[in-house]
Amino acid sequence: MTVPTLTLNDGHTIPQLGFGVFKVDPTETERIVSDALEVGYRHIDTAAVYGNEEGVGRAIAASGIPREELFVTTKLWNSDQGTQSVFDAMDSSLEKLGLNHVDLYLIHWPRPDLDRYVESWRALEQLRDRGLTRSIGVSNFHRSHIERILAESDTVPAVDQIELHPAFAQRELRAFIEPLGIRTEAWGPLGQGKYDLFGEQAIVDAAAAHGVTPAQVVIRWHLQQGIIVFPKSNSRQRMAENFDVFGFELSDDEMAAIDSLDRGQRVGADPDQATF
Ligand code: NAD
Repeated sequence: MTVPTLTLNDGHTIPQLGFGVFKVDPTETERIVSDALEVGYRHIDTAAVYGNEEGVGRAIAASGIPREELFVTTKLWNSDQGTQSVFDAMDSSLEKLGLNHVDLYLIHWPRPDLDRYVESWRALEQLRDRGLTRSIGVSNFHRSHIERILAESDTVPAVDQIELHPAFAQRELRAFIEPLGIRTEAWGPLGQGKYDLFGEQAIVDAAAAHGVTPAQVVIRWHLQQGIIVFPKSNSRQRMAENFDVFGFELSDDEMAAIDSLDRGQRVGADPDQATF
């Protein structure tokens, strides 16, 4: 199965479908990521704050997969925003991952109350220039935060990784970032199981029509809009299910029916209010 790749605004490519490891227990991460790599995933999304970079690194090392075939993202935690603290955080992440560079490094949350995300972004630019990360991007950034980055730095973020699922489709933010060449990455693409997404009629109907599961329909809905997506599962069977999404296509009517589920409903924090 070949996962499509998308080209980022800096010329690097990213597999559109990956595997996320938020809330994957550090003691189980090596086994779970090893399963994901065996299933065929080549794009892994982790973060310093997940506490499982070491397990990701061990799975990568044990896999024997050539480094250039893998795409690894990690993220700068909020308490490490600044300049030297960013360099130190990157060193720590690389050491835990056992890598000499990552493919994408993100500012995890803007934390506008700290007012250090522009400074941190300039530090990320330096990390990229030193080859410690290929691409740099942001996560949970609203339009206002991106506008400051654009005004006060030389680099347009490669991606904005944001909460995005059918009940929270982020149309307004996407309409701002995508014309700038910033790719949308969806976190919580399945709504984190926090509402009955898989019981929505539009999704049940599309699943029945294509002989697939509701989760596969939702992943297709992301992919067909050009969104980068990395659902998480600890179960190898669901990992395989979530990866097996290239043998069917949702019709325009099915896409529109799922689009109509948008009700501006977050399952996570509003980035302007987050204080963790
Ligand atoms: P998700 O929407 O991927 O949901 C995961 C949940 O869905 C799990 O509990 C799992 O049991 C269930 N699930 C997965 N596959 C299923 C299937 N086929 N059938 C039924 N249930 C299934 O939520 P997520 O893990 O929060 O988001 C994906 C990734 O996004 C994370 O792992 C992480 O890498 C990233 N993320 C980033 C941020 C951020 O602030 N940048 C925040 C949250 C998550």
